[in-house]
Amino acid sequence: MSHFLTCESGIRPAAHHPCSLCDSRAAKLIATKDRDGRPLPTVLCLNCGLVRTDPMPSAAELADYYAHRYRRSYKGAWQPEPKRVYRAARVAADRWRRLKPHLLASRRVLDVGASSGEFVYLLQTCGKQAEGIEPNENYARWARDQLGLPVRTLDWHRAVFPERNFEAITLFHVLEHLANPREALTRLAGWLDHDGVLVVEVPNVESPVGSPKRRFHYAHLHNFNPASLRETGRCAGLTVRHEEISPDGGNLTVVFARPAVIQPGVSPGLPGNAERVLQALQARGNLSYALAGSTWRRLAAKLARSYGERRALRRWHGPRAFLEAVVIESDFQLGAAKLRDSTT
Ligand SMILES: [Zn+2]
Repeated sequence: MSHFLTCESGIRPAAHHPCSLCDSRAAKLIATKDRDGRPLPTVLCLNCGLVRTDPMPSAAELADYYAHRYRRSYKGAWQPEPKRVYRAARVAADRWRRLKPHLLASRRVLDVGASSGEFVYLLQTCGKQAEGIEPNENYARWARDQLGLPVRTLDWHRAVFPERNFEAITLFHVLEHLANPREALTRLAGWLDHDGVLVVEVPNVESPVGSPKRRFHYAHLHNFNPASLRETGRCAGLTVRHEEISPDGGNLTVVFARPAVIQPGVSPGLPGNAERVLQALQARGNLSYALAGSTWRRLAAKLARSYGERRALRRWHGPRAFLEAVVIESDFQLGAAKLRDSTT
């Protein structure tokens, strides 16, 4: 039986903090520990289905965590290692391939949570005026020093940009880390030009893959399913232009667009969504995880990826060489050519 099922203790009519999406305190405790076995109370909002940490850590606790523990506990290093740079570059290339139709027309692009800058680098390769903000000083400095990229050490809530400054803003695996995702998207929407796009990718809480024991992480303050992610953007005043779930079901991507007039608000709730999330979580026990074909296919893919990375690291030397190798092996040049065609 899964950790999720054994530790649930029913409905908590009054959560410590209200839901950041719908303001409701009606919640169900669905887990008490994180993926490493440390205490982490996690609740499901019964009004909208958004999953969150409750009580939410304070701003000071989060600042301390990101300053001293996050990169080590999550990525295993204070500085980007060569293997991770190559992997991140390939992930960035895949994102570009998938999102190209929505980003081709945009010239000024901001990547929020840019990490070591791989997506900013690839956007620049395609002729964009791309820049990034990244709260971790080590990673942001690495992007500036090693790749010469305009990645500033900055948190989204401290960043100041003129209204309508960007034609596109991207957030890859950032929104789940924020204490108030609706507020964050509302602020970012103001930086978008009319009809500009905001791309958000997050882990899918309904994911049919991955170990149930490793579902919740201290850094992930919110856990979305497709409906709660769409609703977060709508409540920030945005409209949904496109959405997709990764082939393995593990990630959600929504492309939002900025309308002429932004009218942010609080969600009235999403009828039936909490029940849907609960069903998805209960369907994924430890036994079904161990027996699933997808578990073993993922393991095989991981081994193959690791082998490919070792070969790449022997062949190329230095972060810029990794990124250039990824540009050559992907269809980046085609994307850049299309961009030139579309703007002439
Ligand atoms: Zn809610």
